[in-house]
Amino acid sequence: MSKKKLLIAALLALLVVAYFAFDLGRFLSLDYIKSRQGEFAALYADRPLLVIGVFSAIYIAVAALSIPGATILTLAAGAIFGLWTGTLIASFAASIGATLAFLVSRYVLRDAVQARFGTRLADIDKGVEKEGAFYLFTLRLVPLVPFFVINLAMGLTKMKAATFYWVSQIGMLAGTAVYVNAGTQLASIDSLKGILSPGLLGSFVLLGVFPLVAKKIVEVFRGRKVFARWASQKPRRFDRNMVVIGAGAAGLVTSYIAAVVKAKVTLVESHKMGGDCLNYGCVPSKTLIRSAKLVNQIRHASDYGIERAEAQFQFGQIMDRIRRVIADIEPHDSVERYTGLGVDVVQGYAKLVNPWTVQIARADGSAQTLTARSIVLAAGAMPFVPPLPGLEEVGYLTSDTLWGLRELPRRLVVLGGGPIGCELAQAFARLGSRVTQVEMLPRILVREDEEVSALVRDALEQDGVAVLTGHKALRCGTDTDGKFIVLESTGAETRIGFDVLLCAVGRIARLAGYGLEELGIPVGRTVETNEYLETIYPNILAAGDVAGPYQFTHVGAHQGWYAAVNGLFGTFRKFKADYSVIPWATFVDPEVARVGLNEQEAAAQNTPFEVTKYDIAELDRAIADSAAHGFVKVLTVPGKDRILGVTIVGEHAADLLAEYVLAMRHGLGLNKILGTIHTYPTMAEANKYAAGEWKRNHQPVKLLEWVARFHAWRRG
Ligand SMILES: Cc1cc2nc3c(=O)[nH]c(=O)nc-3n(C[C@H](O)[C@H](O)[C@H](O)COP(=O)(O)OP(=O)(O)OC[C@H]3O[C@@H](n4cnc5c(N)ncnc54)[C@H](O)[C@@H]3O)c2cc1C
Repeated sequence: MSKKKLLIAALLALLVVAYFAFDLGRFLSLDYIKSRQGEFAALYADRPLLVIGVFSAIYIAVAALSIPGATILTLAAGAIFGLWTGTLIASFAASIGATLAFLVSRYVLRDAVQARFGTRLADIDKGVEKEGAFYLFTLRLVPLVPFFVINLAMGLTKMKAATFYWVSQIGMLAGTAVYVNAGTQLASIDSLKGILSPGLLGSFVLLGVFPLVAKKIVEVFRGRKVFARWASQKPRRFDRNMVVIGAGAAGLVTSYIAAVVKAKVTLVESHKMGGDCLNYGCVPSKTLIRSAKLVNQIRHASDYGIERAEAQFQFGQIMDRIRRVIADIEPHDSVERYTGLGVDVVQGYAKLVNPWTVQIARADGSAQTLTARSIVLAAGAMPFVPPLPGLEEVGYLTSDTLWGLRELPRRLVVLGGGPIGCELAQAFARLGSRVTQVEMLPRILVREDEEVSALVRDALEQDGVAVLTGHKALRCGTDTDGKFIVLESTGAETRIGFDVLLCAVGRIARLAGYGLEELGIPVGRTVETNEYLETIYPNILAAGDVAGPYQFTHVGAHQGWYAAVNGLFGTFRKFKADYSVIPWATFVDPEVARVGLNEQEAAAQNTPFEVTKYDIAELDRAIADSAAHGFVKVLTVPGKDRILGVTIVGEHAADLLAEYVLAMRHGLGLNKILGTIHTYPTMAEANKYAAGEWKRNHQPVKLLEWVARFHAWRRG
């Protein structure tokens, strides 16, 4: 911080300290104002401008210094000046004072906060740029957040000071009038009768209900604006409480919750019940990974004391097993099960006609139109196929088409170094394909810490995958040796031959073809929603991959609850989707599992942290299982046992993580994990040992020195 800023900060701090040191707060109490009300009134009658000037100056100073007392002064304005003049004075003084506080916060604090929380602030700035004025107006109109907090917080954003001033002036007017009005009544209290006077009671009621009424007005205003062009099409009665589009994890949970709370709900699915996870994603990939792991274990049978073993298999039978596993799980997500749970399931393609109407082209060829009070978009995502010259001609597979393979590809190119690319590259290599994995970025699994990427790369290479990072795919083609892809790295081109090319470069939300465009629902990479999962139409919500920001089955299911509850009961109470503790895993071998921050994210956010690491090579069970590799890495708040994030690499890492997910969700620190008995010998003990490692690093060294002296003394 520059000297000038430090000087200003010190001066302000001095003024605030002086306020408390001299107990100036006693002049900002209702008792004081009431006791001197007669004098103030006389002075005001005698020298009105002086009183207005001094009062305004005090009010502005209190607001600018963020000292408690603005509310009392607003009430006092009513008591001294009456409703109209009081409102005028308090309104201007509050807005000027608030703007000064805003400027002070911007000048003194913004740079420091920017340096520390830069990335988080960038998102907030983006939001403020887009609809900051409306947001501030809402905050001012609905005085649920304290006045001084808004002033200081807004100063940290990029909002213009002029915008802040005028929005505050207009937004606070109604609230100020309510408080000033209460002040005029309070001034006349001199007996029990006074307290119970209808005027005073009315003012108190207004004070209480004003925030709720104002909130409702804002919502209605917002809703009106967006629904205006559809007003003539709004049905008078609705066929359903809710229609859900898409029966993947998000849509299934949404419709299930809706049915549980006795809503009339229709779930529309155009393809397969269970969506991507069951049919093309988690289930088939994890089934394939398991078979590949077994083949790999047999290959390394000598690690387990078995002299010789050989896996004989036909790839087609492994693919048959995948089909069987899907068939075994299918009943969980089936039409029959959901119908039994009270959901009306329709197989067909749904399209939004207006904010309350969905048209369904049913699988049997018929058409159906349903109206609903709320609609949940849970249409999922699909593989992204890069626009590579020659790709369409040579042909490619994605996670949608991979599962139809009957022959093991001899030479496989996997495009993409993310979780799906890594999982599938390893599985195919273990089954015997010659796999080349291509990633444009300098390392695979870029969201994880560098050491994790390095460890996984090592594991993939040991299984025979040629991992080419920093390689950009340029084009595909065919020559006498068959198909090839041309890659570029540091200016040089390489040509890799292949039989099958698998695109695993990411998944994009399904955003086209079902009415989002016609309704003007804003989309970016996903459907844009607010924290309640509402689109610009508060009755149309989105959940799962189509809404982001995560693309996991369990997050889609988690959002499904919010979409159902907010969609059905949002008029009365809404819940913000909570993403505070989101776990995930990449099912390579060794598995990589994470919850919360890793080192690179914590550093990017300027979040201070301590790292504690436990090496799974030390763990008895891991040694017994010939799985003595990997680590548990825990990030904690410096000097405290509060967990900021955990990364586990190792056998069953995704299962081990559950203990930390629970701890973070419920605010349990490492001391609590250390104090919990873990069964011996299990992999889960790694969690306790990591907590033990933390404890060792935080021993009360000085105290222990004294304890050692005590023992020495006892020994005599
Ligand atoms: C290979 C692979 C492996 C994966 N592994 C994991 C993993 O291990 N763990 C994990 O958590 N996640 C994993 N995922 C991600 C996971 O599959 C998705 O996050 C999850 O399926 C998203 O669920 P959803 O309900 O949002 O969408 P989806 O499951 O895609 O469901 C959307 C459904 O909507 C239907 N639909 C779309 N438009 C319409 C319309 N207009 N009318 C009617 N129906 C419509 C679609 O047919 C689809 O069935 C994996 C994904 C892939 C591809």
